[in-house]
Amino acid sequence: MKIIMLGAPGAGKGTQAKMIAEKFGIPHISTGDIFRSNIKEGTQLGTEAKKYMDQGLLVPDELTVKILLDRVAKEDCAGGYVLDGFPRTIPQAEVLDEALEKLNEKIDYAVNVDVPDDNIVKRMSGRRACLKCGATFHMEHIPPKQEGICDSCGGELVLRDDDKQETVQNRLKVYHDQTQPLIDYYTKKGVLKSVDGTMEMKAVFQLISEIIKEEK
Ligand code: AMP
Repeated sequence: MKIIMLGAPGAGKGTQAKMIAEKFGIPHISTGDIFRSNIKEGTQLGTEAKKYMDQGLLVPDELTVKILLDRVAKEDCAGGYVLDGFPRTIPQAEVLDEALEKLNEKIDYAVNVDVPDDNIVKRMSGRRACLKCGATFHMEHIPPKQEGICDSCGGELVLRDDDKQETVQNRLKVYHDQTQPLIDYYTKKGVLKSVDGTMEMKAVFQLISEIIKEEK
């Protein structure tokens, strides 16, 4: 099963993607995580990607598409995957579709986690990420057991540069300009499913699970 998660930055699609991946036993693939681990390792890709990420801009398609296609070609993706943060532009979606067509495959669901902008800004300012393992928390909604410390690995929790307020405003603009058109794109393909992302995390997951279960 191949699933794409759509939604504005901070809509909660990453959290939902991880839960779906666990439930269905498929890999969770986040292009943002791949970039962040490259930044941490100091690779050339990381250095290049950081220039864009720190400003809330998209990393150019040429760089992004290649890392994604390499990742989904790995053996653990044979039974499907859930993509979190890819595609983010129409050209990215087209490249993915072409690659899948060659394999006689297709995307089964594009799940849009729908949250209004004002809600997003509030959410992202409360978000904290672990410097060490990348796990994310929220001061109000998913607080760590000990303030400032990651539950999973004990690393330090910080406000990511790309979650800072002015960057969030930029990311929302970029989302509306470049990513939102994908909602139409996947509607036309007949695979779009929208869920109300303002509900409690578990309720959103319940809805998504029902959608996926119903149709399979
Ligand atoms: P995320 O963790 O998905 O919110 O991504 C963090 C940042 O990584 C984004 O703001 C972009 O700068 C970059 N990024 C992640 N995925 C993509 C993508 N598919 N296309 C372009 N840039 C991306």
